[in-house]
Amino acid sequence: MKITAIETKVCHARMRNWIFVKIITDQPGLWGWGEATLEWHTRSVVGAIEDLSQLLIGEDPRRIEYLWQMMYRQHFWHGNGVVRGTAISGIDIALWDILGKIHGVPCHELWGGRVRDYIRLYCHLGGGKMEDFYETRRDDAKRFGELAQKAVEDGFTAFKSMAVPETAPLEGLQPVHYAEACVAAMREAVGDSIDIMVDCHARPSPRMGMLFAKALEPYGLYFFEEPCWPETMEDIALIQRSVRTPIASGERLTGIHAFRDMLEKRAVSVIQPDITHCGGLSEVRKIAALADAYRVSVAPHNPQGPVSTAASIEFGFSAPSYIICESVHNDVAWRQDVVQEGFVVEEKGRIVKPNALPGLGIEINEKEVSKHPFQQEVLQRSFYKDGSVGDW
Ligand SMILES: [Mg+2]
Repeated sequence: MKITAIETKVCHARMRNWIFVKIITDQPGLWGWGEATLEWHTRSVVGAIEDLSQLLIGEDPRRIEYLWQMMYRQHFWHGNGVVRGTAISGIDIALWDILGKIHGVPCHELWGGRVRDYIRLYCHLGGGKMEDFYETRRDDAKRFGELAQKAVEDGFTAFKSMAVPETAPLEGLQPVHYAEACVAAMREAVGDSIDIMVDCHARPSPRMGMLFAKALEPYGLYFFEEPCWPETMEDIALIQRSVRTPIASGERLTGIHAFRDMLEKRAVSVIQPDITHCGGLSEVRKIAALADAYRVSVAPHNPQGPVSTAASIEFGFSAPSYIICESVHNDVAWRQDVVQEGFVVEEKGRIVKPNALPGLGIEINEKEVSKHPFQQEVLQRSFYKDGSVGDW
């Protein structure tokens, strides 16, 4: 059995270009789907996949770990940068889809079988509509409350918000009060039985991250995400030690070594590997095993397209420390037209029942994908009041 071609199919979905990876074999009808979406780096990732494909064409697709080692270690430069990490991830996901199809079982059965009956999803405020999630004004606490209410009406028991404003490395009380007002409005709207998360997008400096974490502590967040840059891991750890709120981070890390550093520093209660960046399903399983040793939870980052979601779900049915999965359902109106999914999402509670189809249980509709060719992603940039460059 041999890999004969590795193709990329780019599908423009407003904020992102979804990059679907199709690995074709010499067996009639046997192919696998992966995803390697990296917003604002679409052309680089497509090129990186093309570069990697010369290592893989003609190889046996069943030797996934062997092929992963080649992708990561050969070509001299290791594959732990985000572009090549994403390319490796997309290919690795497709290889697992193929292996499941060969054996006629869902991927989670290849990994020791199901460890839970369902997976809980959480949404973004606005369900993935970028204006609601990213552009609701930070002084409009009422709107945060309304969107929170809507998430619960849509069946979710947990949601994430961007309630922490962009701030210069040091600012006074006002941004902290904005954040408090937004979280208070959301808590007031949905009560104590709903889990609220706040994502800082690593915008704050370490000290501003600490001030926000302390201010939001009374609202009982489910987790508080990326309070400062992942490059300042010691400061994330300091915030984790200073508040009761569980701290989450990890969406920008690639490879097990980066997660080893985060876990050794006791920086978080929740790691958030992105299966389309961290090294794929092969690497995320190792990362989760490492997290198990620290009794740290896993909640994958997953705001991308439908193959990323299917991979995140399959993984979740096999990973004991997995607590919840990020999801978007309202980013583009035609999301469900490009994919057939094997898993079922129950509207009430937004829980996912396991896929019973082989591999990832999905098929991508290439005709629908071709209706949405590459377009440059909308720029999302941030500048502070004085015109200096900020983090988005
Ligand atoms: Mg995030």
